[in-house]
Amino acid sequence: MTRIYSALSLFKEGLAGQTGWKQAWRSPEPKPSYDAIVIGGGGHGLATAYYLAKNHGITRVAVLEKG
Ligand SMILES: Cc1cc2nc3c(=O)[nH]c(=O)nc-3n(C[C@H](O)[C@H](O)[C@H](O)COP(=O)(O)OP(=O)(O)OC[C@H]3O[C@@H](n4cnc5c(N)ncnc54)[C@H](O)[C@@H]3O)c2cc1C
Repeated sequence: MTRIYSALSLFKEGLAGQTGWKQAWRSPEPKPSYDAIVIGGGGHGLATAYYLAKNHGITRVAVLEKG
């Protein structure tokens, strides 16, 4: 999915209270099991998931984000 975040769209969304963005991530059904589960999709959580995959080859990772 290609999504364009232009300066104009950022400006317009700023004026509109950030209400017009479409969800940019998938909502897959959870798998029966994972090799790692990361709680929290902030910078640390996403970096943990990314480097587990990139540096350690652990790609069956779930990131659970309450927001
Ligand atoms: C106002 C403000 C301005 C900042 N400006 C800067 C800046 O300019 N530059 C900079 O480098 N840093 C800045 N920081 C600091 C930076 O945002 C934090 O250091 C960084 O986001 C911390 O990342 P984190 O992954 O540890 O936590 P967070 O980004 O807080 O992520 C934690 C995530 O875990 C989720 N979560 C919590 N509990 C649960 C749960 N039980 N189950 C599932 N999910 C859960 C939360 O919803 C959240 O998304 C700023 C912080 C604030 C508050």
